[in-house]
Amino acid sequence: MKLVLKTSPRSVGNMGFLNGKPERFVINNRNRFYYSLGVRPKQVARCGQVHGKHVRAVSKIPAAGYFLKTDALITNKPGIFLTAVTADCFPVFFYASGKGAVGIAHAGWRGVVKKIVPETLHAMVKVYLLKTEDVRVAIGPGIRKCHFEVTREVLLKFKSSRAFIFRRGRKIFIDLPGIIRDQLRKAGVRHKNIVDSGECTCHNPRKYFSYRRDKSEEHPKGFGNMISVIGYKK
Ligand SMILES: [Zn+2]
Repeated sequence: MKLVLKTSPRSVGNMGFLNGKPERFVINNRNRFYYSLGVRPKQVARCGQVHGKHVRAVSKIPAAGYFLKTDALITNKPGIFLTAVTADCFPVFFYASGKGAVGIAHAGWRGVVKKIVPETLHAMVKVYLLKTEDVRVAIGPGIRKCHFEVTREVLLKFKSSRAFIFRRGRKIFIDLPGIIRDQLRKAGVRHKNIVDSGECTCHNPRKYFSYRRDKSEEHPKGFGNMISVIGYKK
């Protein structure tokens, strides 16, 4: 079984419905990206993404292609590919080599506070009878402590994560991937089984879209989103 694990670079186009409605050019961009990975669009499941903590186990692709009110997907069926759309939030990938199980979580600050990442891990371990120490996790590109400045209101949600809060002058920054890693370690994932792309979306305008960097009055939703894919080929 061959693992597919990839976040689309900006060069392959916008992967998000910025006005909320499906748009033909976005669907075309996604399909072209899937085909470049050797994946057919009908093999892909998406999550509705509401910044919640609901995890869905996928045994077959739904007719609509996606699951409402869901921020993480898991499967143990090779040939099913799971996706998440992001533009500063983190795509977090899970896989257990040899077991055919994979997962993906859409983790922005709200999802991190709600512990979507350990929720996804627990669901995978429970549903597919895995050992936590066999699960590998990859943290994709997202907005990092260099650019993730937060308001005092947001800071209040991170009272239990003091080690991941930084002040520079009057500004406050949070290290979300640091918290994700900490949550994973506390849930029993081995240090050596966590890899982090280290990439900041806000820092890489050539490679990634960034909501925080790109939004403006004229473009309130920024310029685009990336899509991340994980799954095993049969
Ligand atoms: Zn940055």
